[in-house]
Amino acid sequence: MSKPVILCVDDERMILSSLKSQLQNNLMAGYKIELAESGEEALEIIEELCENQTEVPLVIVDQIMGGMYGDELLAQIKDRLPKTLGIMLTGQASADSVGNAVNKADLFRYISKPWDEDDFILTVKTALQSYYHQKKLVRQDCYQNALNKILQFVLHPRAFNDQLSDVLTVILNAPDFSELKKGSIFIESLGQIGPDHPEFEMIAAQNHEDDPDNLHHENKLEDFKKIEPQIQLISRSNANCYYQAPIVLPESSLSGSIMGVLYLYVSPSHCESQQAKSFLSSVCHTIAGMIRLAQYNLAIEHHSFKLEELVEKRTTELHHALDVQAKQNNVLLKTNKELEYYATTDELTGLLNRRCFFERADHEAYRSQRYERLMVLAMLDLDFFKTVNDEYGHQAGDTVLNEIAKVISDNVRDHDVVGRVGGEEFAIVMPETNAQGGKELCERIRQAIADTRVKVGPHTISVSTSIGVTALRENETGICAAMSRADQALYDSKRKGRNLISLDYEA
Ligand SMILES: [Mg+2]
Repeated sequence: MSKPVILCVDDERMILSSLKSQLQNNLMAGYKIELAESGEEALEIIEELCENQTEVPLVIVDQIMGGMYGDELLAQIKDRLPKTLGIMLTGQASADSVGNAVNKADLFRYISKPWDEDDFILTVKTALQSYYHQKKLVRQDCYQNALNKILQFVLHPRAFNDQLSDVLTVILNAPDFSELKKGSIFIESLGQIGPDHPEFEMIAAQNHEDDPDNLHHENKLEDFKKIEPQIQLISRSNANCYYQAPIVLPESSLSGSIMGVLYLYVSPSHCESQQAKSFLSSVCHTIAGMIRLAQYNLAIEHHSFKLEELVEKRTTELHHALDVQAKQNNVLLKTNKELEYYATTDELTGLLNRRCFFERADHEAYRSQRYERLMVLAMLDLDFFKTVNDEYGHQAGDTVLNEIAKVISDNVRDHDVVGRVGGEEFAIVMPETNAQGGKELCERIRQAIADTRVKVGPHTISVSTSIGVTALRENETGICAAMSRADQALYDSKRKGRNLISLDYEA
């Protein structure tokens, strides 16, 4: 980049020469002094400088010149180069022309001819300081705007890669980087959280494709971790220079935990800029925050997914456990029913067994006493049943017992209670029944049994039964006494010849 130019315009060569030598003697060598003898020539020089992108911080003009006057020249330069400052140096300027220059061309200072050299140089130095200060403020403003835009991206997050592409676009439009608009962002892979598995990938790039020395190819993944934690301007002999800015969180910038790298190309003539570095430092901290946020979001998503999985697994386990429990309950219910059946039922005949019959009989006795109701108890014993077993075998005996049980059941009423209380011994409780009624019912049963023929293989077997009947007496709240009376009556029937019904003497 060529040196900035201070342009001096006067129609007297002597004055131009004097200005040039005073400027050269008093300013650092950082400026080139251009001279023009008229306003028109000055505009031509300005045009040329603009084409070469040469900076013109200051123009020193005479007011009274042949052709264009100084105030008009300043106004035209101001249109072309708004930031360029003007000093008017003349002995004959009218108040109007100075006013014009101040108002239209933002005149920096007016100096009378002949001038004092020290005063002139001080004015020039002040103007240059003001120019560069103003320029710095403008750049600072641009950087600030760029940072604000980037912060807006953080506040309104979208897909992470899109966000970083937008960030890169904003950076490449900022001062220092807008000339080449070329850069890239590499970051640690989001999927690999933590320092143990660093892996870098290029997330965003602009104008990278046409670069034969693409940094993307130069940097191996492991090299990223060796990058210095400071922002550096790296010059390469054959091509463009670039800023290498490590992406780190503010608190970890010293420890050097690099989450990514920002590469921004500048032209070979670029001078290292503290403003640019300061801007990049803020940008890199912001990008580091974005990366951390994205990593946290990923981690939260991951944990939510795991949690959902766990809940689903636990729910399935719970359903399974409930199923198993339900099956076990069913088995238990069935077992309980079976247990209840076997506990209360005579397996051979299906009638109540002895224990259950006595429970029910006791209960009926209690109920009858309490409500002053009548109740009859009968005991039945098959006659000579041992003979059946002996002659036809126990299996045939069981068949006979089963048939007889059916005959008894068929002949009692719904509310009567029937049980098998011994080998060939049955008992019947008849609630709401007096002795006579009980006797009649037993007579029907006796007759039915006597009429029954049981077919067992080739044999037809018939049996008879002896019966003892008694009624529940006053104050008897259990079945015990009635049982022994019925037994006694049964014994009487046996004694009298069997196939008979006997009533207890008081019944
Ligand atoms: Mg003149």
